Amino acid sequence: MSAPCRHLVVVLGDQLDRDASAFDGFDPTQDRVWMCEATEESTHVWSSQQRIVQFLAAMRHFAHALRAEGLPVDYETMREGGLGDALREAIAQCRPARVRLTQPGDWRVLQALREAAGDTPLDVLEDRHFLCSAARFAAHARGRRQLRMEYFYREMRREHRVLMDGEQPAGGEWNFDADNREAFGPNGPGFVPPPTRFEPDGLTQQVVDLVRTRFADHPGQAAPFGWPVTRAQALQALQVFIDERLPNFGHWQDAMWTGEPWLYHAHLAAAMNLKLLHPREVIAAAEAAWRAGHAPLPAVEGFIRQILGWREYVRGIYWLKMPDYAEQNALDAQHDLPAWYWTGQTPMRCMADAIGQTLQHGYAHHIQRLMVTGLFALLYGAEPRQVHGWYLSVYVDAVEWVELPNTLGMSQYADGGLLASKPYIATGRYIERMSDHCRGCRFDPGQRTGERACPFTTLYWDFLIRHEARFAKHPRLALQVKNLARIEPAERSAIVARAHEVRTGSLG
Ligand code: FAD
Ligand code: SF4
Repeated sequence: MSAPCRHLVVVLGDQLDRDASAFDGFDPTQDRVWMCEATEESTHVWSSQQRIVQFLAAMRHFAHALRAEGLPVDYETMREGGLGDALREAIAQCRPARVRLTQPGDWRVLQALREAAGDTPLDVLEDRHFLCSAARFAAHARGRRQLRMEYFYREMRREHRVLMDGEQPAGGEWNFDADNREAFGPNGPGFVPPPTRFEPDGLTQQVVDLVRTRFADHPGQAAPFGWPVTRAQALQALQVFIDERLPNFGHWQDAMWTGEPWLYHAHLAAAMNLKLLHPREVIAAAEAAWRAGHAPLPAVEGFIRQILGWREYVRGIYWLKMPDYAEQNALDAQHDLPAWYWTGQTPMRCMADAIGQTLQHGYAHHIQRLMVTGLFALLYGAEPRQVHGWYLSVYVDAVEWVELPNTLGMSQYADGGLLASKPYIATGRYIERMSDHCRGCRFDPGQRTGERACPFTTLYWDFLIRHEARFAKHPRLALQVKNLARIEPAERSAIVARAHEVRTGSLG
């Protein structure tokens, strides 16, 4: 047994930041870093192969960099079981005076580590990666009957002096969405500057090979893998985004096109969530691009709102409402998530495209998540916990603090409207307008009954019928509910019958 150490510094797979608070005062002669690839982290939800490679490759590179700097690192590869048991054993071996940990991104992990620390004092330190602490968000929420992202975002803009001209928002408006969110024309996006993809080095390739064999039955594929796994790569990806895609970000933010997974998005969520990039530097780079005349204000404001607004806001909600938040099911949705979510094998072209690229790359952009896969699950009435399990499994950027509120709150309305002011519901016409998917699909977004009825359109009307009483007086949904009155009773019955067929028949 080695001599006791002073601090055992725990670094989790989404805490790959040398400036994290757990490293404050680190003394390599007295302290040790502890990192662990606990297999349970890849299996407690059925993690996709891309996601496992993303986390393990980035962890191994981080440990390598720490060692190169001369820090003592205990790194456990592929340890069976959970983080809690692993930490318990590490404490028994190292006998530290204290365990230090930056606040994890997952409530479950925090509980497990607290329990594992037992009698050894555990310091859970503020995660400085975020611009709004959990306490600051709680202060924002206190006394408000309703939480709305827009007001929070304005506070953040003022507080952090982002896109401000004196006390006024740059350009005179807080929000330029009216200029954003167009569809591509009938000929599609044309040439889109490709995203930066990184050829796996030896360390990453080892992980790809490991995942291919060890997690062969997990969804998706481990290769090709091209995501940034080091800070240097993440910085390069950020620069290429700012130079080549940011100017068009807002314009095409909601547009989709078959076989075009990347478009004008940043693809930086995983790099930020693993803490390879700080949101402050991403926001600063975007603002600087606007001030230098390189990118228009609507694109830059729209992009910054996602990070300074939505990203901080959902984290605030997560820590304010956990653990009960994960159990919410306001619409009492009880159906099993269709099995083809794990394969993408469905005749619905929009779903096949979104799920296909998700399994291949571990990526889909926000509107694909919200208005294709998420919308379908909501209209279908899939049980929110299963939907949550799917989203947490399949994306390289999936960490619970951000995934759960987006899935349960924004996408499934399972929190009854805490996060989003209304359920995001639409017929297949929305997807038709924003993409080319419907052109080659065997279904017709304009039909709600019959063999060719688009499942989204059928299920949209079925959703309104099922929840008519709940939303009849809802300020933002009442108009949609009112349209039900125009449907004859016989057609209502046909919609309900067709919805039943959609749920019980084979869409896979
Ligand atoms: P861009 O579209 O280029 O946006 C820039 C950045 O803004 C993103 O990198 C991200 O950090 C941030 N951002 C954008 N929208 C949101 C949002 N709604 N909430 C928080 N941050 C946001 N994001 C995750 O990081 N991890 C998840 O597990 C995740 N799960 C989601 C599940 C559902 C059902 C939905 C509807 C959204 C989810 N999001 C999640 C939010 C968003 O879809 C992704 O952040 C985004 O698609 C990542 O791609 P990008 O980096 O190209 O983002
Ligand atoms: Fe999707 Fe319906 Fe369009 Fe087919 S018709 S691509 S199912 S929205």
